[in-house]
Amino acid sequence: MSEPATLYIVPTPIGNLEDISPRALDTLASVAWIAAEDTRHSARLLQHFSISTRTLSLHEHNEDKRAAMLCHRLLSGDDVALISDAGTPLISDPGFVLVRRCREEGIPVIALPGPCAAITALSASGLPTDRFIFEGFLPVKSQARSNMLSSLAERTCTSVFYEAPRRIVDTVRDMQRVLKERQIVVAKEISKAFETYISGTPQEVGDWLEAEAVRQKGEFVVMVSPAVVDVSAIPPEAMTLLTTLSEHLPLKKAAAVVATHYNLKKNALYQAGLDLKSGLA
Ligand code: SAM
Repeated sequence: MSEPATLYIVPTPIGNLEDISPRALDTLASVAWIAAEDTRHSARLLQHFSISTRTLSLHEHNEDKRAAMLCHRLLSGDDVALISDAGTPLISDPGFVLVRRCREEGIPVIALPGPCAAITALSASGLPTDRFIFEGFLPVKSQARSNMLSSLAERTCTSVFYEAPRRIVDTVRDMQRVLKERQIVVAKEISKAFETYISGTPQEVGDWLEAEAVRQKGEFVVMVSPAVVDVSAIPPEAMTLLTTLSEHLPLKKAAAVVATHYNLKKNALYQAGLDLKSGLA
């Protein structure tokens, strides 16, 4: 039997076609098969770059079956590239089942770096980027969405979400109810003609979106700033213990110990520890 071939994860543009890399184009042109989320959608991209590689579909409804079939092809020596409709495959897109199966079967997997709406939006948002959490799409039902947003109330890192145009206003208004004055940033139509970043409280951003119907059209990344922790409320003796412990333990662990000892919030101590380390406190 021949050596297994390679599965390539190939990011494609999220708007501007020039964002595709020369390496991505070479890979797409040279593999035996391209597995695409929607072959008709990707045909336009491939035609644009004169790539005539055979395509087959891999989407959430056929991924199990397709993964088995593609692994068989990879094991018999055919290189395969995986693409989604836009951006990085597997990031709120299909591909996880295939990649996991390839890993289990010892098939090499190589991911090419490239466009991803979440990372692009975050890098330009002006929100802290040292720690962030990517949540994909928020729940569709308002109650579940509000519950999820409540869990952000004490989160001390930036949160990043994808949102569909038909829900953008409802989501931002839910944020207004749950997160009050917290700063958010909405990135709209990244790398396209009407690219816009709107920052402010959820109320300000909601008002901006509702001022004109056209503002609610397009593609959105929503980012929520970290909770502001009142470090001054932490007693000095707790800070002293935190400083000492964090010399010997990871900060998270040290914060947890001090939180239990003084009956304080772990997140607040963790943030205070980070501030100390970065010289802010
Ligand atoms: N895999 C893709 C990636 O790497 O970004 C994301 C796929 S997910 C199904 C599609 C969502 O990504 C959209 O609903 C939107 O929230 C976000 N998105 C994609 N392209 C975008 C763009 N040009 N501007 C803003 N958000 C975008």
